[in-house]
Amino acid sequence: MYIAVDDTDSRSGMCTTYLVFPLIEEIEKSGLDVIGYPRLVRLNPNIPWKTRGNGAIVVRAGKGYGRKFKIGEYKGEELWAYEKGKNIMADISIRSLSRYFILEDENTNPGVVISLRKLPESLYWKGVRYILSMEYVEKILDNYGARIYKFKNGRGVIGASAAIAWKARRYTYELLTYLPRDRWKKERWVDERSVIAMDKKTQSTFDNYDYRNKYVAIKPHALTPVLFGIRGLDPEELIRAKDMVKSDAYEGWIIFLTNQATDDHIVRRRIGEVRPYESVRLRGTVSKEPKVIEGGHVIFAITDSSGEIQCAAYEPTKEFREVIKKLHMGDDIEVYGGVRKEPFTVNLEKIRILRLKKIKVKVENPICPKCGKRMKSIGRGKGYRCRRCGIKVGEDSARYEYLDREISPGWYEVPVIARRHLARPIKLMEC
Ligand code: ATP
Repeated sequence: MYIAVDDTDSRSGMCTTYLVFPLIEEIEKSGLDVIGYPRLVRLNPNIPWKTRGNGAIVVRAGKGYGRKFKIGEYKGEELWAYEKGKNIMADISIRSLSRYFILEDENTNPGVVISLRKLPESLYWKGVRYILSMEYVEKILDNYGARIYKFKNGRGVIGASAAIAWKARRYTYELLTYLPRDRWKKERWVDERSVIAMDKKTQSTFDNYDYRNKYVAIKPHALTPVLFGIRGLDPEELIRAKDMVKSDAYEGWIIFLTNQATDDHIVRRRIGEVRPYESVRLRGTVSKEPKVIEGGHVIFAITDSSGEIQCAAYEPTKEFREVIKKLHMGDDIEVYGGVRKEPFTVNLEKIRILRLKKIKVKVENPICPKCGKRMKSIGRGKGYRCRRCGIKVGEDSARYEYLDREISPGWYEVPVIARRHLARPIKLMEC
């Protein structure tokens, strides 16, 4: 059976991922095994009511067989999972989970879904790319005979169901470490130098440290149970990476299989067909020159035959804005990013420059063929005249050079400090 939980935390505390520990405890208490890595599934990053990263967790339980492997530790105990297993339905105490729900927060609406069978994959794709209604999800859950537990309006059922439906066609891993309860609301310490050393020594981890902005990306901003999280492609290497990081003591760690860094949220669209709350990949030609607006955000527009849309590199994307500022009208590019309703703008995650327009700039007026004096312009597009001899020449007699574009075709992305969970880093694009 698949057990999924979502929407349990608030901005001021807790983290839904922590519930993996009481959940595993309950699974073991009921005599079942954990099958596969627990999953952390990120859903539509543009939905307005998410707390932070719009993530739900899923643990599969049943009678395990095949290879057994370590997935974490909690309060001195090792946690193990089986590679394969037979799904079995059992009673799980929801109460042991619900004591962690932040029900007093008005925006927290926990949902738990237990399903013997995997839910249809389309539910995942809709959940990661569009907006799902509770009604639609509940109909599917009903058809699949899933059990649901709603707290308050129970909106978490949506994310929990979409998470069960994830088939992990593309995936990465994240190892998360957790502080003991008395430290959840306190400042915590993760040693910057050790994170840099880990980043340099490991091959398959990514987004650990932002060198330019001197930012330790593995440490969350919020004061939650999570001390740090390391992302990567190889779970064995993540365990070694964790031991290279110097930090406060933690009481548990777990490896999740996740859809982070997969670009699963991205849909290919023509510009005129973009709808709010989607994350899109659009090909177009720059139709409005980039300009810097108040707050340091850089805005420009692209078009194709179906329409025009505004794109933005917001201030938090730091040096990425310098690339955007170098774009000019006529450049052919591909943009990736999320779209909100208001403003209806592509919030850029990365771009690919396909072709830079060759831009001719005049460097010198022509010289008079008779007297050798520099000629004067008669007016835009009208050519030049020599003041002394009165001779006229055409516009193309001036000396032109191609503008040094300072950028070249290829991929450019926001720095690690501004990376979104689902966005695939360029270094993984070929993987
Ligand atoms: P955390 O990651 O810390 O758990 P969060 O950022 O995931 O917090 P939630 O508190 O889970 O935010 O809020 C997201 C809410 O949106 C959940 O109730 C979830 O069920 C719901 N939700 C997720 N994806 C969709 C979707 N595509 N359409 C409609 N509702 C969604």
